[in-house]
Amino acid sequence: MNQHIHCIVSDCHYWDHGNMCRANEILVSTDSFANKRPDRVDATMAKQLAPDTAGTCMSTCCKTYVPAGSNQINADGVKRMT
Ligand code: SF4
Repeated sequence: MNQHIHCIVSDCHYWDHGNMCRANEILVSTDSFANKRPDRVDATMAKQLAPDTAGTCMSTCCKTYVPAGSNQINADGVKRMT
């Protein structure tokens, strides 16, 4: 599958020019799920996670987000593509 993830969150470690996400995988979750889980619960664990429901786009988020330059860029096990 040739997938492109477009994103405008420019302070994310995985963000790149042209509003492209360079993460090799991401986890989109509900806000309530993300608020209760540590950073290590992310895309690399996706197959083990129970599906959830959001009801509105405002209740979803990218759990893979990590601030650029932070010391947490390896916490979730996701790799940045070149
Ligand atoms: S990891 Fe999420 S927030 Fe970061 S660039 Fe990709 S889609 Fe955007």
